[in-house]
Amino acid sequence: MPISFSNSLNVTPLKTAIISLSAVTESFVFLQTNLLPMKHNFTKFLLALIMGISPVVMKAQIVDSDLTNLVIFMRFADDEEITHSFNSIDTMFNGRTPGYLSVANFYKTMTYDHIHFNTVYTNNIQNGQIVSYQDSQPRGYFEPYSPTNPIGYQEELPFMGISRREAELLARAFHYVDSLHLVDDDVILDGNNDGYIDNVSFVVKGGTGAWASILWPHMEYFPHDSIDYPVEINGIKPNAFNLEFEGAPTYFTAHVFRHEMGHSLNLPDLYHYINYTDVSPAGSWDMMCYNYGPNQMAAIYKNKILHVADDPIQITHDGDYTLKSVGSSQSQNCYYIKSAIDSTQWYVFEYRNKQDLFDEGIPGTGLIVARWNDTVPLDYSGMFANAFFDNVTIANQYWIFRPGSTSDIQNGNLNNAHFSQATGRTRFGPDTNPHPYLTDGTPENSFEITNIRENGSELTFHVHFFNDGIEDHQTDGMLSDDCLAVHPNPTTDKLFVDGHDMQRVELFNTMGQCVLTQVAENDSFTEISLADLPSGVYLLRVVMKGGSVSVQKVVKAAR
Ligand SMILES: [Zn+2]
Repeated sequence: MPISFSNSLNVTPLKTAIISLSAVTESFVFLQTNLLPMKHNFTKFLLALIMGISPVVMKAQIVDSDLTNLVIFMRFADDEEITHSFNSIDTMFNGRTPGYLSVANFYKTMTYDHIHFNTVYTNNIQNGQIVSYQDSQPRGYFEPYSPTNPIGYQEELPFMGISRREAELLARAFHYVDSLHLVDDDVILDGNNDGYIDNVSFVVKGGTGAWASILWPHMEYFPHDSIDYPVEINGIKPNAFNLEFEGAPTYFTAHVFRHEMGHSLNLPDLYHYINYTDVSPAGSWDMMCYNYGPNQMAAIYKNKILHVADDPIQITHDGDYTLKSVGSSQSQNCYYIKSAIDSTQWYVFEYRNKQDLFDEGIPGTGLIVARWNDTVPLDYSGMFANAFFDNVTIANQYWIFRPGSTSDIQNGNLNNAHFSQATGRTRFGPDTNPHPYLTDGTPENSFEITNIRENGSELTFHVHFFNDGIEDHQTDGMLSDDCLAVHPNPTTDKLFVDGHDMQRVELFNTMGQCVLTQVAENDSFTEISLADLPSGVYLLRVVMKGGSVSVQKVVKAAR
């Protein structure tokens, strides 16, 4: 759970199917299916919010950061002291054994040694003996009201942000740590100099409560506005924090820690919160989507949000391009092609290699092609991304193309999204499965990727542009334009195509929409009727039996 608004939108409490696809521990996000009016209001609210925020210019700059994660152990009035092994907890955060997935090792590897997360503890912890803050309220105070839990909270929990009871609980814990001076003065709490404690992890006694209750693992920002006294430790305000529950084995893992601490670095969730929750934009290719196994993230997010990878490189010309794997190189790990139809939408190319440390959990090794929508705000702590996708007013920021999917609301086979010689998927273009398409499903016919071939830590592919999809063109030298005759052109109705080895013909309008497709009548001739189409410029695409493609501009004249 990511976003913290000071004016939280309240949602009616729900007893609805909770979609557990939201991999990890995302809490307080009520994924319901029976609240359409609320969704509508929410969308309007969100749009207003987006409109009110000016775009943030993200400047790629690679800065080394040593960040501090302060752990505060916490239990309730009716709890005994935490008995969990301190060493096992510390190993999940700080373990340095090579290859072991700890938060420290993971961020060091994932950020090419640029971001180091060092976890520290309050100074009353000696000899591995946990001493926790004990709150004045019992556990039931932070659980929902019920006849058997009369002290539980009855108010609606905020859709985003945190409840008053949680805010006050955390404020008391911070006050305890500060007033007893439990953090030594020489501990650097604000490693990146942004004015706030880099991260606080509350490790709470016991298991999790109900999903989406206060006692569910989550990341949030501390709401200073809702507490009427200054909340600080050694003069520095807390900001991002996580709640983790030591008695919940499934959620008390380094996988959960690294995901939640990713939010503390402004990384967004890539899955859908509200709509199409069963359709995954990135699946287990990305730690901010699903993260049960070791996995890193898209290079474009490493660049745009973490600033630890070089800028993506734009491709504008035909040629061979070589990628280095995202898990092994901070440079040359991301190319992109701008859509010929909408330049704010980019086709992004990255090479993911299961051999790379902490990428062992991705589905395979190969080229990943994704769509980046540059109009989806990166601002507000980068938390929007795909979360509020609705397929109408709010687009996915990042979407991986995968076989069996021709739109952003079709899951397809995400585990087979990778292109490689090993998979036999070595082409990506208008006539492949999957094919490039825009946010609204419009096919992109301006380029194709061929000859995708991996070679250890590198992968090479060939890019071919169809000259904006309008000029006459041919590919791969297998068919010269001389061999394809299209006449009469311009035409008012029928179009005759002479060629050889023809398999099928397709007609696209200048918006890139396919308006006609038909199998060729025979190898060397076919006839197309444009009678039902409006006059204008079209793109005729002839696919030959060998897979090569020839594209010609045709004009339908007004009668
Ligand atoms: Zn998350």
